[in-house]
Amino acid sequence: MATESTISGKTKIVGVIGWPVSHSISPQMHNAAFREMGLDWCYIPLPVDIAKPDAISNAVRGLAALGLAGANVTVPHKQVVMPHLDWLTPAAQAIGAVNTIRVEADGRLSGDNTDARGFIADLREHGVVLEGTRAVVLGAGGSARAVVFGLAEAGCLSIAILNRTEQKAHDLAMDIRSFFPFCRLSGHAPEHLALMASEAGLIVNCTSLGMTPQVDTTPWDDAVAFHPDQVVYDLVYNPPQTRLLQKAASDGAQGINGLGMLIWQGAIAFERWTGQLPPVDVMRSAVEAIFAGRK
Ligand code: NAP
Repeated sequence: MATESTISGKTKIVGVIGWPVSHSISPQMHNAAFREMGLDWCYIPLPVDIAKPDAISNAVRGLAALGLAGANVTVPHKQVVMPHLDWLTPAAQAIGAVNTIRVEADGRLSGDNTDARGFIADLREHGVVLEGTRAVVLGAGGSARAVVFGLAEAGCLSIAILNRTEQKAHDLAMDIRSFFPFCRLSGHAPEHLALMASEAGLIVNCTSLGMTPQVDTTPWDDAVAFHPDQVVYDLVYNPPQTRLLQKAASDGAQGINGLGMLIWQGAIAFERWTGQLPPVDVMRSAVEAIFAGRK
């Protein structure tokens, strides 16, 4: 990583576009990786005010003009950046959101979504078999779109999507079904949780319930017990042990929080920009050090 004293005209710059972005841990995670690899690269926060007209289009087009190598995109800009890009990967098109922009050699801008691959990479790292699995996904927002795409692409037999706003669950099922016709996708109201969960091998929380400061909330009905052979994945990683994961542990199910997904989506973006294999363990240590410091 380039430091204050080594940044030069040759230093390659990447960053994260969001609003706000001051809380993002991506700069520490990526700069640790650049340092480890001895790369003359630097990762910076790029706050783009959602309220300012034309701010996002100017910011995105400005990436190439300013000579940046690319950028991550986070809330609330993952969808609004899309019309300003020159082309999208199939994953970004299907998910309907971009979290990684690369400035190509000819100055054109490509948009990718590494959330789905990051999620699947973390599940595989935990030894979870996805082929032929029945999955239940709680939520139908932006992260659920990536998760459902990833699960369908990985070969899940069926995916039941449950969401407070039921129509969004149906819409998501229909959108992803058109890409993976052999995966049984269905949308439901949360009231069907007990029925849907009984046969599931994998349950994924893609709602914000349980996240700090709402640590007492959960997307789960506590009257419904998990089976010991079920895997419960919570995209929420702050706190690391949500109320949902506490319930999974007490029922004997395997629980996984979303920290690994965060690390892997960043690692895949790193590879997309630099063309080099990411030092995932270094990125993980950087992230874990931040959370240890916050305790
Ligand atoms: P989003 O697009 O705003 O979607 C939020 C989802 O939560 C929607 O399905 C929404 O239902 C549901 N929800 C919110 N409040 C609810 C409530 N009180 N009762 C029932 N359902 C509720 O957000 P997102 O981008 O998908 O993010 C969801 C969570 O995943 C966040 O906690 C985020 O930090 C986390 N996340 C983690 C990673 C990672 O790398 N680990 C990546 C992305 C996101 P409605 O549709 O009915 O509003």
